[in-house]
Amino acid sequence: MIRASARDQAFCPYSDRQRLGAERLGTQFAGAKVVGTCGCGCPSIYFAHNAKVGGVEVVAEAAIDGTDDAVLLFVNSGGDLHSMEYMWVSDSPPSEFPDVSALKAQSR
Ligand SMILES: [Zn+2]
Repeated sequence: MIRASARDQAFCPYSDRQRLGAERLGTQFAGAKVVGTCGCGCPSIYFAHNAKVGGVEVVAEAAIDGTDDAVLLFVNSGGDLHSMEYMWVSDSPPSEFPDVSALKAQSR
């Protein structure tokens, strides 16, 4: 079992994990509940999740076409959706997320 698992990982170091991650995130999005927004005026949103402790990490990132901005998706330490945040470089925050057609996914 261990040997087979190691061989599989050697042939496919990322794609299975990324695919499983995308499927899991997709399932979570379907049941996601927004419980908060950022107070600065940007459109960042926070989802209900179960984590009691631990930090968050970026699991997906999309550049916004024609800008130096990006949309980031965070999960908590348990792998549950935590937030979708808008990262911008201009002086004032954007008021809404861009149309999905402006997003260019970047691998993480
Ligand atoms: Zn904000």
